Amino acid sequence: MQDLTPQVPAWPATRERTTLRTATNVGAMDEIDEPIVERLPLAAPRPLTAEERALLEALLRHPGSKPELTEQAKTVQVDATCSCGCPSVFLAVDDGAPPAIYSDADSPLGAGAVQLRASVGESGGPEVILHVLEGRMAELEIWAGGYGIRPHVDPTELVYDQGHFPSDQ
Ligand SMILES: [Zn+2]
Repeated sequence: MQDLTPQVPAWPATRERTTLRTATNVGAMDEIDEPIVERLPLAAPRPLTAEERALLEALLRHPGSKPELTEQAKTVQVDATCSCGCPSVFLAVDDGAPPAIYSDADSPLGAGAVQLRASVGESGGPEVILHVLEGRMAELEIWAGGYGIRPHVDPTELVYDQGHFPSDQ
């Protein structure tokens, strides 16, 4: 008989995340005491749920978004989920979709890894982040301050974080 005892480690739920994870983890530092957060590929890509779609569309109205991302959203599918139990999903778009070209000034990590961020209310509320890697939307991150937490985020309550985007954009 299989042991069905959950093997979930007791991560401190309130621990503040200090670095980027998953899709943009490349080049991140000091990950030593972080749990392993992995991309769990789906057997087959699936459409976005209505909730995921609504959050994505809210981020497509971020001041740093680009028309190419809106175009990519027409073919976007979920191709993986996050191992930590949070509702973040990894995204795949058709090969023919146009890339969204950013400048290095748009991201502390450079043009190849851009984040469109929004949060609910004051800082510390749930965050929703569209990660754009090499011009393509790669992850819709939904983060509520701890691994495995699944917040419900009302897209109408999101406040955009201008982040590193040049103010003339
Ligand atoms: Zn996660």
